[in-house]
Amino acid sequence: RAKQDGRGTASFFDDRMDRQARDRRSLEHDLRHAVCRDELQLVYQPLVSTAAGEVVGYEALLRWDHPERGQVPPAIFIPVAEEAGTIMAIGEWALRRACRDASEWAEPLTLAVNVSPVQLRVSTLPMVVRSALADSGLAPGRLELEITETALLRDRDVSLAILREIRALGVRIAMDDFGTGYSSLSNLRHFPFDKIKIDKSFVSAMHEDEAARSIVRAIAGLGKGLNVPVVAEGVENEVQRSMVQAEGCALAQGYLFGRPEAIPARRIQTVVRMRRA
Ligand code: C2E
Ligand code: MG
Ligand code: MG
Ligand code: MG
Repeated sequence: RAKQDGRGTASFFDDRMDRQARDRRSLEHDLRHAVCRDELQLVYQPLVSTAAGEVVGYEALLRWDHPERGQVPPAIFIPVAEEAGTIMAIGEWALRRACRDASEWAEPLTLAVNVSPVQLRVSTLPMVVRSALADSGLAPGRLELEITETALLRDRDVSLAILREIRALGVRIAMDDFGTGYSSLSNLRHFPFDKIKIDKSFVSAMHEDEAARSIVRAIAGLGKGLNVPVVAEGVENEVQRSMVQAEGCALAQGYLFGRPEAIPARRIQTVVRMRRA
């Protein structure tokens, strides 16, 4: 009997894994066409000064409107695209589109674009960045590329050389989701960063978790010592806003200030009126 149950369980898992694998393959297949079928879109979320709520820039975030599945979140399709290699085309599309959009904004605000670790391993990235800037006419000083620490795990020397080349163009580099990756402190010493973004998991927990708050304080201190601005990600309410401000984060991003939206150029405002809790 026990044996039978065991077999039943095994085949249940086999079925499920089959289904997951098929599902992944179909996503992978559909992603190959997503760019040319115009299914991808960029939305923009404001980065604001913590003290005044003044918008200093926007982060471009990918959205995929799948014809049958509807909205597929980037947390699902980016990993698939990275594994299949489609991230190269998708990433280049996003960069070019974002630069073009930002070049039409009424104010010369900063544009942040996420770059996958996979893109950072290919030596053509600096050329793609330069071409996106030239084609859009966007000033290099307005562009900031966001990379995660995992981007630096493999081929450190290659990644470092590519980052340096990009920075030589006048483009800045931000370290995204800081605190969740590996060997963070050593990365800060060896890589040329212009900004640190504290992962939202720390920010969302800090009002009820002393450890999370200490970590936010420590990262803000690091930023101060290294002379780079620190952004608190995922600020959803006034309590969190005043806490990250008190801990020394000059910049913040989160639903309190604005959700990611497809913002037409003329609707961009320099000041977001802050909601009080
Ligand atoms: P990320 O770069 O850390 O982006 C911030 C994520 O936090 C976004 O999720 C954003 O919508 C979400 N967020 C912002 N404020 C709040 C808040 O107050 N509360 C909560 N709960 N969430 C907030 P999204 O748009 O789903 O993107 C998820 C991740 O997908 C991004 O994390 C980024 O790693 C990746 N991604 C998005 N667009 C691109 C892209 O163009 N290229 C690459 N390589 N990755 C991208
Ligand atoms: Mg980001
Ligand atoms: Mg982040
Ligand atoms: Mg993230």
